[in-house]
Amino acid sequence: MNFSSKLLENAVNEFGSLPGIGQKTALRLVLHLLNQDHASVERFGNTLIHLKNNIKFCKNCNHISDLDICDICASAKRDHQLICVVEDSRDVMAIENTNQYNGLYHVLNGLISPMDGVGPGDLTIEHLVSRTQNPAISEIIFALSATMEGDTTIFYLNKKLHKENLKVSTLARGIAFGGEIEYADELTLGRSITTRVPYENSLSK
Ligand SMILES: [Zn+2]
Repeated sequence: MNFSSKLLENAVNEFGSLPGIGQKTALRLVLHLLNQDHASVERFGNTLIHLKNNIKFCKNCNHISDLDICDICASAKRDHQLICVVEDSRDVMAIENTNQYNGLYHVLNGLISPMDGVGPGDLTIEHLVSRTQNPAISEIIFALSATMEGDTTIFYLNKKLHKENLKVSTLARGIAFGGEIEYADELTLGRSITTRVPYENSLSK
């Protein structure tokens, strides 16, 4: 693309570096912002800087939060015996949207993927293991994508999390998740949580 201005080019390149944003879309967004008044553009930029500088990750479950402990972990209305293990905060939001789950979460910040050089040490697995040691925890639910990385991660975690009387379950497979759970529609996702199956049973299918 031929730019008439280096300033314009720089801004388009920044937008173009975002996932799913090609150069044409980047240019459209930048031109749109250029047409806004100063205050709006300043608010836009400041919101991003403020987000980056102040966002926290819950000390209990690693979910994105404004406070040290997120609203879910802090709520007395939640069932503190259940931990639903997810890949990232988007999955927490997707499951919350179903209104079918009332326990806590644990955000792994990724999945084990030897191909991409992501090992267990890169994820919040040790933290999950120590949380599970709490006698109050009675069930771990794996809500990870039905991919090789998801399966590898569940397999590894299931071995690490051995504790007497701990129930380990996984979202009912066979229901199409479309690869990643965040893309599952709310009804399907909600149903797969309420009809979750013991992990051992899911292996024999
Ligand atoms: Zn939390």
